[in-house]
Amino acid sequence: MSGLATVSSSDSPARYDIAIVGGGLVGASLAVALRGSGRRVLLVEAFAPDSAAQPSFDERTTALGNASRRVFEALKVWPAMRAEAAPINAIHVSDAGRFAFARLEAARLGLDALGYVVPNRVIGRALWSALSMDSALSLRVPARVESLERQADAVTLGIVSDTGVESVSASLIVACDGGASKVRELLGIAATVDDYSQHAVIANVLTDLPNDGVAYERFTPAGPMALLPLAAGPEAGWRMLVWAARPEDAQRLQQLDAAQFLREWQQAFGWRAGRALRLGARARYPLALTRSDASVAERVVLIGNAAQALHPVAGQGFNLGLRDAAALAESLMETRGDWGDAQLLAGFVGARQADRDGVVRFTDTLVRTFSDTRPMVAGLRDAGLLLFDLLPPAKQALSRVSLGFGRRTPRLARGLPLR
Ligand SMILES: Cc1cc2nc3c(=O)[nH]c(=O)nc-3n(C[C@H](O)[C@H](O)[C@H](O)COP(=O)(O)OP(=O)(O)OC[C@H]3O[C@@H](n4cnc5c(N)ncnc54)[C@H](O)[C@@H]3O)c2cc1C
Repeated sequence: MSGLATVSSSDSPARYDIAIVGGGLVGASLAVALRGSGRRVLLVEAFAPDSAAQPSFDERTTALGNASRRVFEALKVWPAMRAEAAPINAIHVSDAGRFAFARLEAARLGLDALGYVVPNRVIGRALWSALSMDSALSLRVPARVESLERQADAVTLGIVSDTGVESVSASLIVACDGGASKVRELLGIAATVDDYSQHAVIANVLTDLPNDGVAYERFTPAGPMALLPLAAGPEAGWRMLVWAARPEDAQRLQQLDAAQFLREWQQAFGWRAGRALRLGARARYPLALTRSDASVAERVVLIGNAAQALHPVAGQGFNLGLRDAAALAESLMETRGDWGDAQLLAGFVGARQADRDGVVRFTDTLVRTFSDTRPMVAGLRDAGLLLFDLLPPAKQALSRVSLGFGRRTPRLARGLPLR
């Protein structure tokens, strides 16, 4: 067995149909989608969902596309998020120092909202309270998967917790353990990492104008900056800033006193959203495109950030990971036999390929094109933004990105229950 050795025991390990490793945004969503499957489901998560150290349900907010909202509606967890979900009524895209901009408005596209901004902690609370009511689900939390060994008909995991080391085996392991996936490492699967040489500084900002449900995406040579509306509650009228900058600049921004930070932000962003008044706590995230060289192995499948971790520009990472979870739950629920069946897993990964490739290309192209300072490229960007602003079909097409790039959108993302 690779990694830590398991405690030897004469008892055979507890047996499951599926073990989900990682109960963050994607793993917890998958576990919720598998409620009522009648199968033996195990979820292993390293941090208690309400712990300050929980890395998925931290101080960030997530912009959910309409397809993700439909998934959560179909899973009946949306009502627990709705009150703290800020609808995005419009998206304003601009290029710092250039004249062109584009505006996408929900009402003009016949939509209630282009998407919703929800604090990660709220999503975590909604998903985990649904899980806590599922008596058929086995949980190990806080507990870490530290080793993995394959047999012909199962995979055995070594799980370490405060109470010791335990072995469990499952017909299928789903790695939802994030960009630095332990499962991927234990399988010996490499990942290709393209470092963007950018870090994102996040913080809540209060300005003297109401946020009006407008999300701003502003591209600067150092990296893109997003300003997202926050909903009612203690954050009413506040916005979440995601500011990507060169690593050394981001570190400096994180350490500046609040007044100086807000002055620099105002200078970089401009006055469209009003005058900056107050600043919340800051956190910093290094940004890279990390793609696992394979997302399937014998009786193991990787989804969410474990398969592909993206730059947060345009807020696509979790939306893509949630479609991974929705599509996998759909394939599993339609299968009467072995959930670790090689053909089933190959079919799932094949069906997800176009969506994954499409979203990776889309976000990577946005980051690289808008960071390019060459005058000709900047001129083409101006033309592109102007054209986009004038072309209703282009706006319709962009508003459908939340459905994904694949030929088939998962049932849950279309608002349909699993069979
Ligand atoms: C600044 C920023 C802003 C973002 N904004 C958006 C946005 O607006 N919209 C969007 O769609 N996406 C956004 N994203 C991307 C999004 O956060 C990720 O795609 C999402 O967190 C992926 O979820 P995940 O569950 O796959 O992985 P993670 O969130 O990394 O969760 C992994 C989980 O696995 C657990 N774990 C790890 N190792 C083990 C182990 N060995 N055993 C047990 N458990 C383990 C961890 O504790 C964690 O809970 C943003 C990302 C960043 C950095």
